[in-house]
Amino acid sequence: MRRVIVRRSPVHGKGVFAKHALAAGERVLEYKGEITSWRNAVRRHQREGIEGHTFLFGLSDGRVIDGSRDGNSARWLNHACAPNCETVEDGDRVFIHTVRRIEPGEELFIEYLLATDGPLDEDIRAQYACRCAAEGCRQSMLADAA
Ligand SMILES: [Zn+2]
Repeated sequence: MRRVIVRRSPVHGKGVFAKHALAAGERVLEYKGEITSWRNAVRRHQREGIEGHTFLFGLSDGRVIDGSRDGNSARWLNHACAPNCETVEDGDRVFIHTVRRIEPGEELFIEYLLATDGPLDEDIRAQYACRCAAEGCRQSMLADAA
């Protein structure tokens, strides 16, 4: 049974929404895609003109999962600085779990945890700006942004 659906998000572009009520601690999705370096993924997205949505999730070793390659609906999860879902790494796989009860129709959010390797130009910084409006929003989806 599918627990989530993808549709237009009031926050940004498309989002992932609960189809039914979800309990805290439920595994809802796997974040699928190609594992590559941050630098490679960013170059590729610039070259291919992928804009607007960020299809990258950061692994703890600094690599990323690129959901624009062999990804699933998890690539539409929007970032929030105070998300209602957490990401659980299991080897090279990442699973999305709820951290609290979620009502039907509520949008699901994760933290992208993107670590960058090296200095960033303004374009990239702007592309990864966060506008989640949470109290304590870091204004960026990048984990190491000051
Ligand atoms: Zn934010």
